[in-house]
Amino acid sequence: MKVSQVCRNKRSLSFEIYPPKKDSELRNIDATLEVLSDLKPDFISVTFGAGGSSNCNRTIELAKKIKFKYGIEPVVHLTCLHYDRREIDGFAEVLKAEGIENVLALRGDARPDVPDKNDFRHSSDLISYMKSRNDFCFLGACYPECHPESSCVISDMKCLRKKVDAGAEVLLSQLFFDNEVFYRFIDKCRIADINVPVIPGVMPVINAAQIKRMVSICHASVPLKFQKIITRYEDRKDALFDAGMSYCLSQIIDLLTNNISGIHLYTMNNPVVAGRICEGIRNIV
Ligand code: FAD
Repeated sequence: MKVSQVCRNKRSLSFEIYPPKKDSELRNIDATLEVLSDLKPDFISVTFGAGGSSNCNRTIELAKKIKFKYGIEPVVHLTCLHYDRREIDGFAEVLKAEGIENVLALRGDARPDVPDKNDFRHSSDLISYMKSRNDFCFLGACYPECHPESSCVISDMKCLRKKVDAGAEVLLSQLFFDNEVFYRFIDKCRIADINVPVIPGVMPVINAAQIKRMVSICHASVPLKFQKIITRYEDRKDALFDAGMSYCLSQIIDLLTNNISGIHLYTMNNPVVAGRICEGIRNIV
């Protein structure tokens, strides 16, 4: 089923996982999927490592497993910066052959080891191109704290509007730690006449190194309340794990009480984390 259709009828619950690089990690994926499927999510999205067809194959293999073994709708992430039209057509054919209906269309990031191809400069180019040839439901990424390359919020919102005008029917957000940032972002979307569902992405943070990495990659601001928790518990692994879980759960509960379109949980393929969060919201979603 198309995610746009799901979002028309209900508030969605979804998860993100990534394809394991090593065969030894495959068992972990099944453990994670067992936990996640128990909560009957509306979809599970599978990330895409840009550059090279083996990355694409791993994403598609995992998406097939989600669809056929677990009976859950997969969303396949697809980046475009390193592919030309012919390669994108090839991916689209494979997705169609496997009955995959939902694509999170992304630009991806430049890589020093893989040359950019010049057919697609932005995710909106990918959506326009694929939409003219296929019948997928397209999702797009959005950034409550602005995409790091954007010169200002206004330019970022204009580009987001282009993405929606090109055919993105649902937006999935970058992670954030401050719900107020997300609520203000939704207001900006509506002012910019972006009226598609915007699903907040939430990540349970379980160790200090991960927090630092996320802040540097995603430029997510850390509210004082959360900063105090990190400072207090950063040297006590188990305590920080508990505190990170509780913070994430309280973020989710606040979002759910504020009429948002759904929850998208970044699981990091960690069945313990996923299990703990799922248990905490079992009767709420
Ligand atoms: P775009 O929408 O192209 O935006 C990139 C920049 O260009 C922004 O500054 C934007 O404002 C600007 N822009 C957009 N459209 C236009 C336009 N038409 N004209 C001029 N400027 C424009 N990366 C991966 O490699 N694999 C993944 O699986 C993956 N999954 C992700 C999932 C989510 C939910 C999110 C939020 C990000 C994900 N990313 C992934 C990271 C993503 O590839 C990077 O954030 C990348 O830098 C931007 O991708 P985008 O699709 O948002 O780009």
